[in-house]
Amino acid sequence: MTTPAPALTHWIEPLHHAAWPFLTHRHLTELRRLETALTTTLATTTATTPAERLLAVRTALAPYTPSPHGDPANAATTAALAGFICGWHDLDLRDTIGPGHGRMILRHATPALRTIWAARINSGALVGIAATERHGGSRLTEITTRLTPHADGWRLTGEKCWVSRLKESAAFVVFAKDPNGRIQAAVVPAESDGVTRFPETPSGLAGWAWGTLQLQDVKVPEENILTTPDGDGERIFRDHFTAFRPLVSAIALGTAAGIHHHVLTTLQARTQTRLLPRLRDTTLTTLGHTHTSLHAALLATITATRLTAQHSTHADLWARAIKVHGVETAHRSVQELTPLIGASGFRADSPTGKARADLGGLLYADGIHDALLRSVGRTLTDPN
Ligand SMILES: Cc1cc2nc3c(=O)[nH]c(=O)nc-3n(C[C@H](O)[C@H](O)[C@H](O)COP(=O)(O)OP(=O)(O)OC[C@H]3O[C@@H](n4cnc5c(N)ncnc54)[C@H](O)[C@@H]3O)c2cc1C
Repeated sequence: MTTPAPALTHWIEPLHHAAWPFLTHRHLTELRRLETALTTTLATTTATTPAERLLAVRTALAPYTPSPHGDPANAATTAALAGFICGWHDLDLRDTIGPGHGRMILRHATPALRTIWAARINSGALVGIAATERHGGSRLTEITTRLTPHADGWRLTGEKCWVSRLKESAAFVVFAKDPNGRIQAAVVPAESDGVTRFPETPSGLAGWAWGTLQLQDVKVPEENILTTPDGDGERIFRDHFTAFRPLVSAIALGTAAGIHHHVLTTLQARTQTRLLPRLRDTTLTTLGHTHTSLHAALLATITATRLTAQHSTHADLWARAIKVHGVETAHRSVQELTPLIGASGFRADSPTGKARADLGGLLYADGIHDALLRSVGRTLTDPN
């Protein structure tokens, strides 16, 4: 009989006392309720398109999102493990719980705007991020999208590319430069006049629409500009990704752990039915190696998550490093595991084929790896 909470049962609970003893019975109960609601919703949703299905799941899971009670590091750990659970079932589920990029609004908006968006996000609305431009996403400081002052606030003009959740987002946090050359983050409702969306066809992560966001003289009221004490929008981007990147790693590792479980159970069924006479040593080695790598990366990911929640001075470096390490470990593990089940893993409807393509997208999304590692190296060699 299949358990309704396989990620929790096979990967999270067995480590509870050693790896996350600080999580209470309440945290684990919340995770179990979440995974049970997720498996039930996936089995019963009648939505037809992938995006409708994901939005239906997001709405259905909203009441099951673990509440951020108690110690912030424990709440962040629970959120990361919730991400691992979603990833286990499908990497496209990466946005089905939590505020996602909406976190920037919740942290940096005026109280009035935050109240409006907190209600929308809590009932399932999605927020996208629009930072990347044609010159390269790894060079945020060179963006050319402009915010210009106007009698009733600001006007926004520019073009953003490779934007995920393009059609499904209720709003985007758009990064642009003001007349002083400072980066600002503006909240732009998706239906605003002057916003046009041009979808592209991705080779993975196709659950949400993805493509170009054109902004032509879009009205932005002053209260839609996110703020920090020193008025630095680049800081909003960096602080956000210090929290977001460990979550990306947790979700990617969940996907690879789900594939590990799928391959393991497929092999067990094949040997039990004598379709395979035995498992070769190379198969056993790959199962052992990937199991160890994924667990080790998950433990490091939880450490990165906790450093962020504790406002550690090491958090930013760990977040950048762990996004690379977690996603690459997940991607490599799925590459190694797929051949163990033969050509069935190459079918378009196979979870292994989908996971490989989806994890390929995460090698770029949320920070391209050579640029992240280069900046980690720069931090490590900075004498200050
Ligand atoms: C599936 C997916 C989803 C995404 N979702 C979003 C989203 O929602 N919102 C968003 O804003 N973006 C999104 N992106 C874009 C993503 O953030 C960028 O792909 C990433 O930041 C890297 O930017 P780039 O692709 O333009 O590559 P580049 O920055 O052009 O980098 C490509 C290569 O060029 C090198 N390079 C860069 N600059 C220089 C230089 N000056 N000299 C020499 N070499 C250089 C880099 O090191 C790298 O090796 C998404 C991408 C993907 C694939």
